[in-house]
Amino acid sequence: MFAEVIIDQDVKALDKVFDYAIAGDMDVKKGMRVYVPFGKRTLQGFVIGLKEKSELTPNKIKPIISIIDEQPVIKEEMLILMQYMCSEFHLRQTSVLRLFVPSEIREGKVKELFEKYAVLSENIDKNSLKRAIKQQIIVEKLEIYKRIRLSELKNEFGASAVKALLDKGFILLEKEQVFRKPYLSEHFDKKITLNPQQDNAIKTICQPKTYLLHGVTGSGKTEVYMHLISKALSQGKTAIMLVPEISLTPQVMSTFKARFGEQIALIHSSLSAGERFDEWRRIFSGDAKVVVGARSAIFAPIENVGIIIVDEEHEQSYISESNPRFDSKEVALFRAKFNHCPLVLGSATPSIEDYQKAVTGEIQLLEMPVRANGRPLPKIQIIDMLNEIRAGNGGIFSTQLLSDLAKVINDKKQAMLFINRRGYSSFMMCRECGYLAKCKDCDVSLVYHREDNRLKCHYCGKQYKVLDRCPNCGSDKIKQGAVGTERIVSELQKIFPDVKILRMDNDTVSKKNSHQKILEQFASTLPAILVGTQMIAKGHDFENVTLVGIVDADQSLYRSDYRSTERCFSLITQVSGRAGRSQFEGKVDLQTYSPRHYVYKFAANYDYKGFFKKEANIRATAKFPPFSKIIRILFSNTDENVVKDELKSCYNRLLQVREKYIDDIIYMDAMKSPIKRIKSSFRYQIVIRIKSASKQIEDEIFDCTKDALKSSVFFEVNPENMS
Ligand code: ADP
Ligand code: ZN
Ligand code: ZN
Repeated sequence: MFAEVIIDQDVKALDKVFDYAIAGDMDVKKGMRVYVPFGKRTLQGFVIGLKEKSELTPNKIKPIISIIDEQPVIKEEMLILMQYMCSEFHLRQTSVLRLFVPSEIREGKVKELFEKYAVLSENIDKNSLKRAIKQQIIVEKLEIYKRIRLSELKNEFGASAVKALLDKGFILLEKEQVFRKPYLSEHFDKKITLNPQQDNAIKTICQPKTYLLHGVTGSGKTEVYMHLISKALSQGKTAIMLVPEISLTPQVMSTFKARFGEQIALIHSSLSAGERFDEWRRIFSGDAKVVVGARSAIFAPIENVGIIIVDEEHEQSYISESNPRFDSKEVALFRAKFNHCPLVLGSATPSIEDYQKAVTGEIQLLEMPVRANGRPLPKIQIIDMLNEIRAGNGGIFSTQLLSDLAKVINDKKQAMLFINRRGYSSFMMCRECGYLAKCKDCDVSLVYHREDNRLKCHYCGKQYKVLDRCPNCGSDKIKQGAVGTERIVSELQKIFPDVKILRMDNDTVSKKNSHQKILEQFASTLPAILVGTQMIAKGHDFENVTLVGIVDADQSLYRSDYRSTERCFSLITQVSGRAGRSQFEGKVDLQTYSPRHYVYKFAANYDYKGFFKKEANIRATAKFPPFSKIIRILFSNTDENVVKDELKSCYNRLLQVREKYIDDIIYMDAMKSPIKRIKSSFRYQIVIRIKSASKQIEDEIFDCTKDALKSSVFFEVNPENMS
């Protein structure tokens, strides 16, 4: 027998399948890891196939040295998924396989954890214990309970008494494996009667196809998901549910744990290595039947899947931005097809791409237009910050927001203030008239780059001089940058010195469980204000929140990419969804310097469809996705000449592709990246826009990069970030 092996080295030259011979007595199975000789070295590899014959001449084939795992670590479905991901996302086999087996398993550093129990042995001589009172009591206790945890006995009676009994052979030890589980606070299951819109969604979702569940915030999507999962379980199947990392809050996890108990496995970034190791093994063995987790949970080694759910499907975090780059929604679709089960994409603000698919009938749309508890969505008031400036208020907070905050405090309720820090890219904007510096050719905001003091377009690479006066009104109040959470908290504390003000952002939640502590503190304080970034936008259900303030809505709008309007709409909707969730009426104050931008009108009316129409129209005209494909090929190397050479020869080959598809390629150019050096590597890029979504052209473009062996090449389709 021969094994087809992929060497576990993430380098271009080894991205092949190698044949190795299997010695007669070696029980090699598909999906196992093995040690193989490679040149003069011994390397690890994955067995992806077995065969009777090899095309290679016998003396060229070396034998497998040894097996690493007792059992396969990669299942059949995942081997097929690997092939798909390699061709769909242009990835190397090893880097995909590594996604399937977490490093805790691969590196062998984390071990199984065993708990020791004491039991009575048969040959026990009680008489000999007459003067050892403690030992006597231990024996009596064991006669009653049969089996007691060793650590408990030692705590209660001391290590020496226990040791004495062990030495005499009166008690024996039994080992039992324990699974480390993520900590969750007390949880209980709410009994909920489904309303008609939920009932309808659950009944409809039964075919092996893709459904887009468009439900307003608070419409009760979670309950729909849980019912679908229960349905799958009752058919003897399993389930996967993806949730963006930041909305995988302790509250959400507890809800699922309360409903599904031990059947659930959680996968997210704040698990300890031991917890991740054990959760993965519980999934692999089939003990866990429901996997809930962030992006990487889509690679859970779970079989017989009956439903796959992607909550907040519009979230960009479903695409991994670094190598290996993949879209977990595409992976989810592959697995749904493989398992012949439904795929549910849920959101209050679906991505333009997916809603367009619903419009064309490629996927099925389901709607839940009202809140589950019948409460209205909070009223959104648009506050014109330019007016504030004209009226002499140059501060962070409008008069309206301050008076609404004062009212919340007076009523002993709560407020959440949201700022968008991830959209921190500095754009230049006039605080007098709202003028915004944009690229003449691409119609996206220019980004200020401090290192060379220039404004740059991230789509075409064009550079502009920094403005010191507004070209529109001549004012010198033109500036870039944003205020951070810290500054907001300190300003607020000055205005409301006696009020509890909490802050939540990446800096404050870096410690384990601090996320939860801040939320618990907020939940139990009246009145209180929570200031935060994206982290407070989702998944939280605080009944006393009656006011949401969006401090600088434009921060998300003027990001330098074509999706910024869509993201702005979705953020406003999400953040607003935190207010007025229970019996108290909610309100949203939205501060902006561009009050007339269409995104605010639609968002304030919760008019997703109106927004979609407008946005889809603009994208179709400007030829942005989903009406085109943007491809960026990023080359980097510490030697600038090497990158330039390889970029150039790739570009020359691309010219032929463009020749061939002259009608489909709208734009193609090579340029320095907007950020031209990262960690002493020089970065150059080729940006191509193609009209049709043709995979054929994409593949031919990718082929042109294959000779660039010295630079690291990063190939992205519709990148999230062009810098
Ligand atoms: P979404 O995920 O759509 O924003 P949630 O699933 O968080 O909404 O539900 C919002 C609130 O409504 C939750 O507190 C949930 O317990 C409650 N809820 C869900 N379904 C019902 C129902 N059928 N009747 C009453 N309350 C419900
Ligand atoms: Zn101006
Ligand atoms: Zn441009």
